[in-house]
Amino acid sequence: MRTLSDNDVPVNQETIPADNELRARATALLARFYGYGTFRPLQFEIISTAVARRDSVVLMPTGGGKSVCYQMPALISEGGVTVVVSPLIALMKDQVAALVANGIPAAAVNSLQSEEENRHILEQLATGRIKLLYISPERLLTEIDRWSRDLPIVLFAIDEAHCISQWGHDFRPGYTQLSRIKEVYPEVPVMALTATADRITREDIATQLRLRDPSVFIGSFDRPNISLRVIVNPGKTQRLAIIGSLIERHRMDSGIVYCISRKGAEDTARQLAERGYRAGVYHAGLSTEERNRAQERFINGDLQVICATVAFGMGIDKSNIRWVVHNNMPRNIESYYQEIGRAGRDGAPAETIMFYSYGDIATLRSFVDESGQQALNAEKLARMQQYAEASLCRRRILLSYFNETMDHDCGNCDICLHPPQRFDATIHVQKALSAVVRLNGQAGITMLIDVLRGMARQDLIQRGFHQIKTYGAGRDLSFAEWNAYITQMIQLGLLDVAYNESNHLKITPYGTRILMERQSVELAVFTPQERRTSGRRRAAEVEAPKLSPAEILMETLKEVRLKQARAEQVPPYLVLTDKTLMELVRVQPTDMEAFARIEGIGERKTVKYWRPFVTAIRKHLGIREKLGTGLSESETLLLLGSGYDIPAIAEAKGIKTQTVYNHIATLIGADRLTDFSSIITREQYLRVMEVARENPSELYIILANEMPLGLPKVALAISDYLLRHKSK
Ligand code: ADP
Ligand code: ZN
Repeated sequence: MRTLSDNDVPVNQETIPADNELRARATALLARFYGYGTFRPLQFEIISTAVARRDSVVLMPTGGGKSVCYQMPALISEGGVTVVVSPLIALMKDQVAALVANGIPAAAVNSLQSEEENRHILEQLATGRIKLLYISPERLLTEIDRWSRDLPIVLFAIDEAHCISQWGHDFRPGYTQLSRIKEVYPEVPVMALTATADRITREDIATQLRLRDPSVFIGSFDRPNISLRVIVNPGKTQRLAIIGSLIERHRMDSGIVYCISRKGAEDTARQLAERGYRAGVYHAGLSTEERNRAQERFINGDLQVICATVAFGMGIDKSNIRWVVHNNMPRNIESYYQEIGRAGRDGAPAETIMFYSYGDIATLRSFVDESGQQALNAEKLARMQQYAEASLCRRRILLSYFNETMDHDCGNCDICLHPPQRFDATIHVQKALSAVVRLNGQAGITMLIDVLRGMARQDLIQRGFHQIKTYGAGRDLSFAEWNAYITQMIQLGLLDVAYNESNHLKITPYGTRILMERQSVELAVFTPQERRTSGRRRAAEVEAPKLSPAEILMETLKEVRLKQARAEQVPPYLVLTDKTLMELVRVQPTDMEAFARIEGIGERKTVKYWRPFVTAIRKHLGIREKLGTGLSESETLLLLGSGYDIPAIAEAKGIKTQTVYNHIATLIGADRLTDFSSIITREQYLRVMEVARENPSELYIILANEMPLGLPKVALAISDYLLRHKSK
């Protein structure tokens, strides 16, 4: 296998003209259909591998841009189709909708549609009218033997390809038969795509699919737009306050709260709903119907937050998830990375926060004990815990876990933003350790802190803990400070949490030595990060948020988007992504041409959406003057420029072809259109001229049967144009 990663893109591209030509074509299609100016790293290399009819394995994180890689080969080919094997119906639906929104003919064959509908789609396959066909593995396997060998299939794309491997975390039996593809269509290239990175799975994918000397592309797993933060041992109210402030800061968008248990998900959703937020629940204990409904409301933007177990998210393609909270620590870094990866798929900033408490460890340990692969899972859990307790840049830890080196701190995680400062904490440590010893290791962290701070809790008094010598010895520190310092003592190995004894704290041999020998200990200074976001000041900010003009425009544009989405009955991010809205706010286009140049807006979306968005921007800027006349002609010009033919323009705009010809005649008359080759043939032009000379009064009647209505008018406009320019 050849392996290519982000770091070593081949340098010889300029020297191969054929490749240059392909790049130019692919880049033009990228701009036309997707509205993007450049390919992301590896995308073009992956596409050209498929065009060269070679197999490939593509590893990219969620949001890395895999879809374009398998969609483009079909667009490049004349009349070719890519068959996309995808395990998730919800995902298929979303992808097809996104393609159609960009003007690319696509369809899915699945069990949600009627058999008649499916049959009809499969028949269209042969005509090459569909560019992308999505199908489940099971369905493909029943169909493939019936298919003709001459179908114009240019590529088979296997999405979520890790499902083929027993070593992957999501094995699906339906996938194992997919080697059949190579038997039936030995000449058609296969592209296997996944966001799961480990080497064994990767090799297994190639073997199982019987790929021939595949090129392996490994994209960077870095997602720099996602901020990372861990909060250790937060209280219940603090958790809710943090989630609440995330919702407030992203009122028009939504987020996910992942919980370890169904009950946790339900409780959190209820508490958020009590605070007036639109919260939903999703877990495997609900009926399929309830789950689908919750998922749909989330995708449509009805819900501000969904509280879910790990069951939620596979196949969620929503690009404007702006934040993800883990209410509990996940069981391994793979799951964690996949779950936070659902935020910010559009590349715009997104926030993630993980709440980590020692109680989670007990629950997760019991999962490990029940699992089939205890040793492996225990190790994975340990790595997760180390991440949660780290005092190094968190992104470096994550990427090194995926065997990717990063030689600098990220600047977008809590550790980078608040690098720990250390101080001599010997006295605090002595007090805490001695209290643990005097309590005989019979107290958890909260009880220990209350003892140190001399609190008069009923159960504390009942158990006689107020009589020990260190009772009240730590009144000088707040609960939060003690909480942070004791947590660090656990991380340093001075104390151990007995997960099997109600999380009681025990002194370790190392702690005993420190205590006996009165050794000095340094701890990281406690900085109350939440002071800013909790308390009265924050509440006041929430009530009357002071929005900047840019933020106000953003809110306005989101409302415009929501209105469009409702009218079309599609999720808002299929209209325009958040990232694209941000570009609109930055550039503030005030006419169609400027709107068309925005990153993420292809021609189809330009024609469909420029009016409402540009109108809103102009209003925001205080531009009174109405949008000028002749706009419809401008749209036609734009579509012509991007390669649409006349019937396609008429269809895209919902007007008659004759009207399009009228536009063209006007454009020629105004010297705005000077290349006529794609509009009229030389023969047609000469014929119009001939009739115009010999029988001018019946020109339109005579030509009505010979050429499209409206074309003679265009020919006359051209003739005027030529006269005008000859005399100059
Ligand atoms: P994946 O399938 O790998 O999870 P997607 O294909 O959904 O990722 O792409 C994630 C986001 O990145 C989408 O919003 C997509 O439109 C965008 N994207 C893809 N390619 C490019 C590109 N070349 N330039 C800018 N944005 C891109
Ligand atoms: Zn960092």
